[in-house]
This record gives sequence, C-alpha cells and structure tokens, in this order.
Amino acid sequence: MSYDVVVLGSINLDVKTLVNKFPDHGHTASAQSIEMLPGGKGSNQAVAVSKLGGEVAFVGAVGQDGAGQQMLQNLEKNGVETEFIKRTSSEGTGTFIVMLDETGENTMVGTLGANDTLTKEDIDYAMDKVEAPVFLLQMETSKDSITAALEKAKQKDMFIILDPAPADGYFEAALQYADCVTPNQQETEKITGIKVDSVEDALKAAEIITEKGAKSVVIKMGAHGNLVYQNGESEFIESHKVQAVDTVGAGDTFAAGLAVHYAKNKNLVEAVKFANKAAAIKVSRMGGQDAIPTVEELDQKI
Ligand code: ATP
Repeated sequence: MSYDVVVLGSINLDVKTLVNKFPDHGHTASAQSIEMLPGGKGSNQAVAVSKLGGEVAFVGAVGQDGAGQQMLQNLEKNGVETEFIKRTSSEGTGTFIVMLDETGENTMVGTLGANDTLTKEDIDYAMDKVEAPVFLLQMETSKDSITAALEKAKQKDMFIILDPAPADGYFEAALQYADCVTPNQQETEKITGIKVDSVEDALKAAEIITEKGAKSVVIKMGAHGNLVYQNGESEFIESHKVQAVDTVGAGDTFAAGLAVHYAKNKNLVEAVKFANKAAAIKVSRMGGQDAIPTVEELDQKI
C-alpha cells in the first residue's frame, strides 16, 4: 500500500492535570481540570502529516485496553492508517500523567507500555506492506523496533527523517541511517557537546552531526529559526514572528511538515520553510493535536 509518509513512533494517552501548586510529598492537591488527550510524539506527528495534506500510515503499538481503543479511534478520525498498529495483550497503552501548575511548569510521570513491546518481527511485517517516499521516526519506541525499521527503510530506499527525541543512548547508531536529522538545541548539545546560541554554533554542530553519519541536518532553534545543512552548504531560515502561546507540539508539527512537503517535492529547504510556517501557526494557538494547522490554513498569511 502506498502513502506519502510512514511514521514509526509512540502512541500515548496523556492525562493532563492543571493544579494551582504541585502537592508536597505525601499530600493531595485538587486539580482545576483533568483532560485525557491523545499524545506521544509518533501519534502527534502522524496526525500532523494527515492535517498537512499527506497520506500517512502508522507503525506502532497500543494495549488491548480502553486507552488503546481511544487512541486508535483518534488516529482514524484524523485520517491516519492504523492497520499496522499492533494491539498487544502483554502491556497497557503508553500513558503519561502531566501535571501543569499556573507558571506553566510541568512534571510528568508515565510508562511507554505497549510502545516498548515492538519487536523486529512486528516491524518487518509492517514495513514489508507499506511503500512511501519518506519514513519519519523519533526515539520513543523500543530499540529493536528502531533498529529494524531503519534497516528496512534503507533497503526500501525511503528518505529517512530522524527526529532524535529523546537523544539518549543509541542515537549514534541511528544517525548512520538518517538522510535528515532534526535535533532541537538541547538534543544538538547532547549529540555534539556544542551549546547552540548562534547560527555559527549551529553550523559547527551540523558539520559534526554529518561527520557522525547523517546526510543532512536541520537544527531547530525555536523562535529563532532553523539551520539547514546539506552537501556541505548551509542556509538559515528565520522563524515567523508570532505571539507564542503554547509551544508544546511545535517540534512534532515541524517534523510532519518537513516529511509531507519533502515527500511531495523532494526539496529540503522548501520543506523546512513549509514546516517552519506550520510550527509557527501551532505555537500561536493553545492546544495539542487540535491546534495543529491544516494545509488550507498554511495558505493564509501569518
Ligand atoms: P517541542 O517544544 O515541541 O519539543 P522542539 O524542541 O523539538 O519542539 P523547537 O526548536 O522548540 O523544537 O521548535 C520547532 C520549530 O517550531 C522551530 O524550529 C520553529 O520553526 C518553530 N517554532 C518554535 N517556537 C517558535 C516560536 N516561538 N515562534 C515561531 N516559531 C517557532
């Protein structure tokens, strides 16, 4: 089956609670609100690809529980192909409890659950059935799933976009497969040891990342902009000036925009411009997946 983008990634139920003040150890705090929201970087990115005009198949896992049902329904409602999502009985759906206080500070506790059960066999089964010019992944599923998927995507000659979040132990190996890697400032520092405060820092870091094996690099610098580095040349694309009210999900919207535009046009700089605009619209709105813009909204001026 053919798509624009295949996404491998996490699917989580986010239980978001807003409190006046975090409870002290052993104490109870009453919440101003509690919401059950679809989350996980993989799920956010797949929904964003669909909203931004791409045909998308998802490779991932949920548990055989109510949360899993809810997460699958959400993906389907948003036009994401869910046929290749494993329904496992061995673990529950990934769940994170996110506690926000009035300063916007957040504290999280959670488990990857089903996301961590994906095996090489699960991945091979799914990847043998899908075709797409672009493969997009992050690093929130099992190590085996990431390794197997990168191998398969390479064999199938897909353009591999790696969002190295979280940048922990095994990103080094994954970089060897990446046609494009998209670290934010913190991830860039973890990968290269360079603290990125300027375009020059970003360029130095991008050079190191390509020496580590990635073919091209997009360093995301929040409200500042994005450095694109490919074939030894760089271009800096400034972020749009918007009133940022909620930056959660900026990175996922950006990754999706990059993937869907590259799948259709095969031009990295133009894909970054598209992603940059999509992410700017996202940060100007409160909300999660519902605040990700549609492709029609991208035609409008911001
Ligand atoms: P997230 O916070 O979702 O994890 P991230 O840390 O992966 O995101 P960021 O660099 O924070 O990545 O944001 C991704 C992209 O979103 C930026 O490169 C930029 O294009 C856009 N963006 C983020 N913040 C802003 C902002 N305040 N104004 C305009 N654009 C923004």
